[in-house]
Amino acid sequence: MLFNLHLAETKFPADRKYDVCVIGAGAAGITIAKTLAEKGKTVALIEGGGDQYSSESQHIYQGDVIGDPYFDLRTARLRYLGGSTNHWGGRCRSFEEIDFQRQYLGEQYNWPISFSEIEKYKTAACEILEIPDDFEPEQTNDADIKDITFQFSPPVRFKDKFSKLLNDSDKITLFINANLTQLYGQDGTIHAANFESFSEKKILINASQFVFAMGGIENSRFLMHFDAKNTGAFFAKNLPLGKYWMEHPHLNLGRALVDTRKVNTRHYSLSGRIQKELGILNCGFRVIPYTPNDGRTKAMVRDLLCAAPTLGKKVATLAGKNLICGAKLRAAWEQEPTISNAVQLSQETDIFGIPKVQLHWKKSHLDMLTIKESVRVFNTWLMAGDAGRLQLDSWMLNDGDAYPEQEIMGGNHHMGGTRMSTSVRYGVTDNNGQVFGSKNLFIAGSSVFTTGGHNNPTLPIVQLSLRLAEHLSQH
Ligand SMILES: Cc1cc2nc3c(=O)[nH]c(=O)nc-3n(C[C@H](O)[C@H](O)[C@H](O)COP(=O)(O)OP(=O)(O)OC[C@H]3O[C@@H](n4cnc5c(N)ncnc54)[C@H](O)[C@@H]3O)c2cc1C
Repeated sequence: MLFNLHLAETKFPADRKYDVCVIGAGAAGITIAKTLAEKGKTVALIEGGGDQYSSESQHIYQGDVIGDPYFDLRTARLRYLGGSTNHWGGRCRSFEEIDFQRQYLGEQYNWPISFSEIEKYKTAACEILEIPDDFEPEQTNDADIKDITFQFSPPVRFKDKFSKLLNDSDKITLFINANLTQLYGQDGTIHAANFESFSEKKILINASQFVFAMGGIENSRFLMHFDAKNTGAFFAKNLPLGKYWMEHPHLNLGRALVDTRKVNTRHYSLSGRIQKELGILNCGFRVIPYTPNDGRTKAMVRDLLCAAPTLGKKVATLAGKNLICGAKLRAAWEQEPTISNAVQLSQETDIFGIPKVQLHWKKSHLDMLTIKESVRVFNTWLMAGDAGRLQLDSWMLNDGDAYPEQEIMGGNHHMGGTRMSTSVRYGVTDNNGQVFGSKNLFIAGSSVFTTGGHNNPTLPIVQLSLRLAEHLSQH
C-alpha cells in the first residue's frame, strides 16, 4: 500500500503497530522491507522524498565539506524513492577475504563478523542487482598481482524495479514525503517515530523494531541529532557517532603501454599476502584501453623510442602487429578509517529543524602509501613479465603526500560513521547492526562498514541488508 503524506488522501489508522519501521527507501531499505515482507513481517517503509526528484527534498542534502576537495553533497546522493540507485553506475564487486584480516593494522580494523557471513548472501544480492554471481576464483598461486572481476548491473533502479511490489504488498505500507523528525521512547527502546511532509502534515508510526537506512551520511546525522536531544534515551552515550567516515579515493595515475597477450583483463589488485607484508590497504587498478586508432598509443611509443631506443623498437614492432595497446591507468583504493574523518552537525538547520551536515574529510599518509606502494608492485609485475610499461603522472613520482590540486577524488561512496565493531570505542553498532545500548534500533547501509575495501559499496550493502532482514525476522 502507498501512502503519500504530502497529500494525506488516505485515512491512516493511528493505532496500527508494525513489526518493523524501515526509514529510508534506497537499496538498503527496499531490500530489507521486501525480505521482511516475504518472511511474513509487517513493515512501514518510510521515504523522505517523493516518487520523483524534487529540489525541495534534494535541498535537505545540502551540507559543508571541510578538508580535501569533495563533491557537492547535494549531487553525491539522491533523496527520493530508490535513493542513489536512481543515478548509480552499476559497477559491482564485494568485499575480499583480506578486508577481514587487517588486525595487523590495529583494533579499529576489526569487523565483528567474518568474511563468510557476508559472502553467504552474495548470490541472493546478485539476483537483486541482476548480475551473475561470477567473480574470479580464489587466488591459489603466490603472485603479488591478481586479475579481478567486476560485474555490471543494468543498472537496477530500485524505484522502477520494486515500486509495484511495494505498492501491491499487503505486508508493506510505503510512506512517501515522510521525513523523520522525532523518536519517542526511553531506556533504550524506541516506541514510535514522527514523520513530517513538506506540507507540514505529520504521522506517528509505532513499531517493534526500527531501522535507519537513510544513506551513508544521513544515518550518522540523525543518530547525532537524536543523541544531542535525548542523550542516553535511545542508545549508549559517548559512541563515536559519525566518526571513521570513509570514501574510496579514485584517481588517474598515468598511462600504460601493455602487451595485449599478457594484460588481457582490465582490473587488477594486489594479493592479500603482499598487502600484509607492506602494511598497506586494498587497491584496485583499472587498465582502460584507448581505442585502436587513438593517437595516444602512437605518442607513447614515440616517447619510449626516445627514452629507451632498444625497447622502443621492440614495442614499435609489436604495436605494428596490434599486440601493444595504450591505456589509461586509474585506481580506486581503500581509505584508512581515522577518527578525524567524520560527519558532524552544523549550526544551520534544514526546514524540519534538523542540523545540516558538516563532513570532515582528508586523505592520510597511509592512503598515499597504499597507492604508491600498490603502483610500485604493479609496475614490478608488468616489468618482470615483460607485459608493459607505465608512464606515471608527476604527483605519483614526487616524495611526500601531495595529490593533484583541486582534483575531486571520490567515488560517491559514503562509508563508516556508524560502523559495526567489536568495541564501543571504534564503532556504533554490534555484529547485527544494532546500535550499542539500544534494544530495537538497527542501522543498514554502508555507514556500518567497519572498513571500506576497494570495491564499490552497493553489492555489499544489499548483502548486509539481506543479513539484517533475516536477523530481524527472527524476533
Ligand atoms: C553518481 C553515483 C554513482 C554511483 N555508482 C555506483 C556504482 O557504480 N557501484 C556501486 O556499488 N555504488 C555506486 N554508487 C553508490 C550507491 O549509489 C550507493 O552506495 C547506494 O545507492 C546507497 O544505498 P542506500 O540505500 O544505503 O542509501 P541511499 O541510496 O542514500 O538511500 C537512502 C534513502 O533514504 C531516504 N532518506 C534520507 N533521509 C531521510 C529522512 N530523514 N527520512 C526519510 N527518508 C530519508 C533518501 O531519500 C533515500 O531514498 C554511486 C553513487 C553515485 C552518487
